[in-house]
Amino acid sequence: MKTYISSWPSDCPALPFPRAISILGSTGSIGVSALNVIEKHPDLFVVTALAGARNLRLLAEQAARHRPPYLAVLDEDGVKALRGLLPAGYFPRILCGPEGYVALAALPEAPLVLSAIVGAAGFLPTLAAAQAGKVIALANKEALVLGGPIIRRACRENGAIILPVDSEHNALFQALAGHDAEDLRRLILTASGGPFRGKTLEFLRTVSPRQALAHPNWSMGAKISIDSATLMNKGLEIIEACRLYGIGMDRVDVVVHPQSIVHSLVEYTDGSQLAHLGTPDMRIPIAYCLCHPRRVEVDVPMLDLAAVGTLTFEEPDLSLFPCLNLAREAYNASDSHPIVLNAANEVAVDLFLKEKIAFLDIPRLIEAALARHKAMEVSDPATVLALDAQARAETLAAL
Ligand code: NDP
Ligand code: MG
Repeated sequence: MKTYISSWPSDCPALPFPRAISILGSTGSIGVSALNVIEKHPDLFVVTALAGARNLRLLAEQAARHRPPYLAVLDEDGVKALRGLLPAGYFPRILCGPEGYVALAALPEAPLVLSAIVGAAGFLPTLAAAQAGKVIALANKEALVLGGPIIRRACRENGAIILPVDSEHNALFQALAGHDAEDLRRLILTASGGPFRGKTLEFLRTVSPRQALAHPNWSMGAKISIDSATLMNKGLEIIEACRLYGIGMDRVDVVVHPQSIVHSLVEYTDGSQLAHLGTPDMRIPIAYCLCHPRRVEVDVPMLDLAAVGTLTFEEPDLSLFPCLNLAREAYNASDSHPIVLNAANEVAVDLFLKEKIAFLDIPRLIEAALARHKAMEVSDPATVLALDAQARAETLAAL
């Protein structure tokens, strides 16, 4: 296990408060939850930068409340449109495109970066934050799926630290704290099972995006909601766990837990399993990361176990949800296969949301993309991006 990611390094002081923060993906589900935490504790944070993509109205509202000196959007048109939405007398620098996001991730003024852009677009900004030695509150799991080894190396070389926002990995981080890596037996990720748990293959054949978006426990962005319905989210999270905690794939298990109260468990050699429990609301792990090591109040109802009543656990149904094993196979095959897995998944999810393919086409397209791919070395970001683009084009062409 590598201590720079699985626990806070003992030789590294915690960031002082108030903390200057850049929020990449501020207009998304995670970004909005993060601003809710920050607005509850205005004395603890200074918002240095906010980045969105297309939701300019929400970005303008956020910017008007926090007045950060930097903003970023997707393109030049967005820059012009955003200027027109900002309050009189407020003139932030507005950057755009991948270079803009990368610049915000590396701003010297902000030692804390929340990486919450969705998908592969979050890879370069997350890497930039690692290269700039930031404390990275990481929600963008795809960044680790694409370039985990590259990001880890950048963290190591530049003293950057990753605090995992993803609820399962945040739970693991907390249950791993203070323990010896030698005593660890396995990591157990919990999965809600998504909206289609217990359904049949026949049922899955005709499900609509609206049905797939209706997650039973979590309110999230569209892409991760579909990933939760296919269980690809858990597949990506297995890879994320291996890359965060330096543990082999064979020691990361998944158990379905429909209530989403137990957020994950660590099993030790003596048979103890340490679990993290809480109300399923991302503001809890976000606040943990942004304030670490301090714990602060969040506007989330306390967990009332008696009211929950029953916690249940079951094996995932791999015949209904093949994405889980596709992710395992990709990770075991090579460092380049997960890039193809992720690219094909992003293309397939987008097509499904646009009602161009059926739900069961998602694993089919991913499996075909993986079958086409020959393992290659990926030691630099340019290779990651080139392979990502190639796998996207090939997935579309194979339709
Ligand atoms: P959303 O879709 O709600 O938000 C995505 C954010 O990324 C928005 O701010 C969006 O901007 C921005 N964005 C979209 N495309 C681009 C692009 N090409 N370049 C730059 N920015 C872009 O997603 P979530 O908040 O749900 O998820 C964000 C990340 O966090 C994902 O990686 C997800 O897997 C992870 N995560 C999310 C959880 C959740 O509960 N939501 C839980 C655990 C992890 P705009 O909206 O302005 O277009
Ligand atoms: Mg998760």
